[in-house]
Amino acid sequence: MSFNRYFQSIPTTIFEQMNHLAVQHKAVNLGQGFPEDNGNPKVREAAADVLLNGYNQYPPMLGTVALRQAVARHDKRFYGADVNGLTDVLVTAGAIEALASAVKALINEGDEVILFEPFFDAYEPLIIMSGGIPRYIPLKTPSWDIDFQALKQAINDKTKLVIFNNPLNPAGRVYSRQELQQLADILEPTNAYVIADEVYEHLVYDGQKHTSFLEIENMRNRTLKIGSAGKTFSLTGVRVGYVTACEDLIKITSKVHQFLTFAVSPSLQQGVAVALDQSDADYNELWQDLQTKRDYFCSGLRQAGFNVLPCQGTYFATIDLTGTKWENRDWDFAQWLVTEKGIASIPYYAFYGPETSQTSFVRFCFAKSQATLDEALKRLKTI
Ligand code: PMP
Repeated sequence: MSFNRYFQSIPTTIFEQMNHLAVQHKAVNLGQGFPEDNGNPKVREAAADVLLNGYNQYPPMLGTVALRQAVARHDKRFYGADVNGLTDVLVTAGAIEALASAVKALINEGDEVILFEPFFDAYEPLIIMSGGIPRYIPLKTPSWDIDFQALKQAINDKTKLVIFNNPLNPAGRVYSRQELQQLADILEPTNAYVIADEVYEHLVYDGQKHTSFLEIENMRNRTLKIGSAGKTFSLTGVRVGYVTACEDLIKITSKVHQFLTFAVSPSLQQGVAVALDQSDADYNELWQDLQTKRDYFCSGLRQAGFNVLPCQGTYFATIDLTGTKWENRDWDFAQWLVTEKGIASIPYYAFYGPETSQTSFVRFCFAKSQATLDEALKRLKTI
């Protein structure tokens, strides 16, 4: 049988593979990044009300006015950005569709796209599907600092786009305003756009404040900032994402979106619209709760003898296997861990380009119940 050559050539995602192994070996699943609780009640209540009593026909293609205005208010409130909800916001089916629409909207055959390794695994296929060429720049290990020198060297006439994920999945690194500005200053004289994947914008710990790329003035007209209700409201199944960008960029991105999903359920959009206006206390509760889980789980990992890297944001803790018998064998380790010890994790190699077959880093999702974390730590301590 003959199918699309690229998709024939790639495996299903590491998340699917690990979920499968986790079920097979009755493992505690700290692989895929999703919380175990029921998620934000405001979203669910408002969405349920619309689903039962409200309008459930095709909503506007760009998103409901209520949600687009709520995203604009959110961006002003947290980032001081002046956003016109009617022209500068697009609502998508999760952040993943925002990424797909934006990449497709910008890329012509042969355009180059810069990815910082490790990167969220969807970026690479989305670029290749659009005829683009990924250019990989490793972040410096184990601090995950941007190698600005390497970035300058990688930029050329074909560089069309940089995808910048902050806070960073998988490494939990949060980049400072100064680092964002340095990146912007390098890109300003080029023609490159930035997709700022900020789905973990509200999952930042230790009192640190997330800086959005929307705040970086000299790249504002070439920036598409992506958010996700799934992460912000602990409802990864809700599948609502949003793009904020200048009008021209929203227009072109929406031309792709109209043929991918056209629109997202109006009930879920209303749930997210209501919840985006929630109090500071509600936003704080999210990161404070996750920070407690992070501290508990990371300290357990350390007690079990692992070298745990700092985690400033996201759902993820990382161990560094450098200097152990698993050095540069993250996939071997993850397979052993799930089959022999019953713990599913995600090896970092999945977040690297084709040149990297294994790394020394493994990711665990700590956005889980106390019982799940306790069981995982109990098993880890027997290693
Ligand atoms: N970007 C990053 C960095 C992610 O980690 C994820 C989800 N794991 C997404 C985008 C996709 O988000 P959504 O679930 O809203 O599609």
